[in-house]
Amino acid sequence: MKNGEATVAKNAGSHYLLTELPQWQLFPAVLRGKIRLKGSTVTNPVAVGDRVLWEDDGSGAVIKEVLPRKNYLIRRSTNLSRQAHIIAANIDMAYIIVSLYFPEIKLPFLDRILVTCEVYGIPVTIVLSKVDLYREEASEAIENFKSIYSKAGYNIIETSVLTGEGIDRIREDCIGKVNLFSGESGVGKSSLIKALDPSLDPKIGDISIAHLQGKHTTSLYEMYRLSSGGYVIDSPGIRGFGLIDLEKEEISKYFPEMLAVADECRFIPCTHTHEPGCAVKAALEDGRISPERYNSYLGMLEEDKKFR
Ligand code: GDP
Ligand code: ZN
Repeated sequence: MKNGEATVAKNAGSHYLLTELPQWQLFPAVLRGKIRLKGSTVTNPVAVGDRVLWEDDGSGAVIKEVLPRKNYLIRRSTNLSRQAHIIAANIDMAYIIVSLYFPEIKLPFLDRILVTCEVYGIPVTIVLSKVDLYREEASEAIENFKSIYSKAGYNIIETSVLTGEGIDRIREDCIGKVNLFSGESGVGKSSLIKALDPSLDPKIGDISIAHLQGKHTTSLYEMYRLSSGGYVIDSPGIRGFGLIDLEKEEISKYFPEMLAVADECRFIPCTHTHEPGCAVKAALEDGRISPERYNSYLGMLEEDKKFR
């Protein structure tokens, strides 16, 4: 009987490919019987990035147990759905890729993604992609964007796969980490991953898993190894999910710049809207909190009302 601890790199149906990071030697494993997770309404009990215990009695590796997750990201099929799918677990850094133009960014949309990452305890770096296309014409808009999000406490890296700007920096930051790359279609996510490691082609995907799984549907989420070090999980786009579970008073906790001042509000809990002596509104007035972020916050409060 062999056994060990490994990380899930790929998953299709009940078939998994595991590896003992930092080594990259994928071996197949299956899930047999039921692994129930507490409070589980998730459709997949084991996700890419999970650390698992496996056992092999000679007929192949079987996943026995999922070790506690340091974080994870889930997707619901609809906002009100109870069924959830775990996108990935144990993420060291999420790179949220946005371009100011081509396609034009919508800040409230980005803010929902950021809130989601805060809810699930996932560190974020914002990647401002394709800057070669608008650096000249929109230098003010770039500075404004950077000011909004650095004030909120986020790291921002400007990139261009044409000039190579920012690529070395991300490549270096990825070493030794499991990195999730997420962005709406068209923002340049595939180009960025390819620039980090030309041997990867996220759009083509990996044939090994297709081979392994036969007719099962291919999982959208896979882990790749960067030849420069570190791992990448390519995700088609984090949406603002999970917000529905938040109480109105809770939402502002996931805006780091609001959380930083909220204990100075006169009333606690405070929705930071109409209450007198509100520290968030004071910070808004003196420019420590950006109006754009505050507006996104108000939008989320409104939306929250609609669902109740
Ligand atoms: P994805 O859908 O997010 O994976 O985006 P792609 O990587 O397929 O890129 C979408 C389009 O943007 C393609 O036409 C790319 O050539 C282009 N693109 C991606 N990155 C850059 C960049 O840094 N600069 C410029 N000028 N174009 C880029
Ligand atoms: Zn307040």
